[in-house]
Amino acid sequence: MPELSKRITTLNGDGSDGWGVFYRARDMIAAGEDVTELTIGEHDIRTDPAILRAMSESASGGHTGYAVVPGVQELRDAVAARVTTQTGVPTSRGNVMITPGGQSALFSAHMAVCQPGDVALYVDPYYATYPGVVRSAGALPRAVQTRSSQGFLPQRDELEAACGNAVSLLVNTPNNPTGAVYPRETLETIADVVQRHDMWLISDEVYDTQVWEGTHLSPRALPGMAERTLVVGSMSKSHAMTGSRVGWIVGPQAAIACLIDLATNTTYGVPGYIQDAALFALRSGDRLETEVAAPFRRRREIAAKVLAGHDSLRAIPAQGAMYLMLDIRRTGMSGEAFANALLDTHKIAVMPGESFGASAAGHVRIAMTVDDARFGTALKTVCAFADDMAKAA
Ligand code: PMP
Repeated sequence: MPELSKRITTLNGDGSDGWGVFYRARDMIAAGEDVTELTIGEHDIRTDPAILRAMSESASGGHTGYAVVPGVQELRDAVAARVTTQTGVPTSRGNVMITPGGQSALFSAHMAVCQPGDVALYVDPYYATYPGVVRSAGALPRAVQTRSSQGFLPQRDELEAACGNAVSLLVNTPNNPTGAVYPRETLETIADVVQRHDMWLISDEVYDTQVWEGTHLSPRALPGMAERTLVVGSMSKSHAMTGSRVGWIVGPQAAIACLIDLATNTTYGVPGYIQDAALFALRSGDRLETEVAAPFRRRREIAAKVLAGHDSLRAIPAQGAMYLMLDIRRTGMSGEAFANALLDTHKIAVMPGESFGASAAGHVRIAMTVDDARFGTALKTVCAFADDMAKAA
């Protein structure tokens, strides 16, 4: 076989990425073992039947040909209206392109702003694909470190230190994996830094409907930011539509026009019946979103009760998204060692913090994605296990 491109063979970087636990859990489940799976961000409910009916009716009605590449007008209008209402920033169809999920939007955004070899920043801990997304666009990923003791919020000094010759900064609020919802001051600092360094901001807001504490603020709404921000949105998390692959990118019209050229040459758009289902979901108002978010809100409260009184663990305040980040350093173990031992001893699978970057070492991330009773029981076991490990340390 002739050589493959460096771009594709080096996508995942090198070194240990902490995903061993995840694959081991998958193997155990395949072998019939009863593993409590708290690793990835997949809802334990399915897409609402009413959304599926809208999808089916659209497909049966003939919307199975090529859909227009930027997205059907009604859906672009609905996204624009939603963004305008939520942020107060006047947004119209020309600011919106529909994408096959947030993942594709993340890639497209970096393609739009990075030249080959440019440095693109992202905040550590990060959603696992970020460095690979940057490499896919031919750019060089550079992490901005944060601290557990500061709730994993990026600070001015670290941002400034990372900025040298960077063209973009990728932030994610509400955050996966930490559950942080960035407060206004953090976003203002970010806005100030990217403006002074004339950088783009790529704002991943796919968890914007899952906020338990504080309020979600889109940095695109801050003064001077609409012209340098590309927002990534998705129906995956808000409407339990992960498999439908529908999301969007919102930004300046000139950027969207170029992104449409990129889509014409890559994805060629999103299936029309999927877009009609998304349109139905968005037109259904808050009800569907609230229903999808409710289990995580409940489980976060269950977790607070279970965690109280266990000082071998420290929970990072889970203000949003579907995860719980636990600092397990008092056990003297790495996140990876803890997660492996927990899987071996109790058949509970959690993600080592290390899989989300160096800043999350000594932590584990727990996805709140099994039913309430099982979740509560599993978390009690995690706490008891951490207490035992801390005593032995
Ligand atoms: N951003 C974040 C922070 C995520 O957690 C995910 C999915 N887990 C995505 C983007 C991509 O989601 P999708 O492509 O399903 O919209």
